[in-house]
Amino acid sequence: MKTYKCGYNYCKNEGVVNEDVAIMVKNRYYCPECEKEMSGKEKIRELYKRDIDTTPNSQQLNMAIKKIVNEYGCDIDFVIYSFKYIKENNIKINNPFGLTWVVKDGKLISKYKKEVITRKANEIRMSVEITPNDDSGEGFEYKKSTPKWLREI
Ligand SMILES: [Zn+2]
Repeated sequence: MKTYKCGYNYCKNEGVVNEDVAIMVKNRYYCPECEKEMSGKEKIRELYKRDIDTTPNSQQLNMAIKKIVNEYGCDIDFVIYSFKYIKENNIKINNPFGLTWVVKDGKLISKYKKEVITRKANEIRMSVEITPNDDSGEGFEYKKSTPKWLREI
């Protein structure tokens, strides 16, 4: 089978992707999970600009996100959730590296875990009554794979 070079620097599959699963974004090919992580990072950048600093040092912001996602191995959904926590608790973030300590906050972590469990229970309850909206046709947006409740953060 034909393979492509995955365009993601932190490729999860040694930089190679089979053509039957490859996702093309701006003329480059990516593994599905690499593309998901990339668009997740983009979402984090957007939230940072929306909630914390409209004109951040983008080099610092990229480094902080890399650290959180690729070094600490934090789940993208968890990082997205942390913005809600920052708002609710009026946490002051002076520069992008502030995010790297927020994600280690034990209270945030246990709150997130509880919320995930509750949401899952609710979703199961809901799924027997209604059919969720079809999200297809939205292209490669991060939205597609993110639960609705997280998208609203
Ligand atoms: Zn890849």
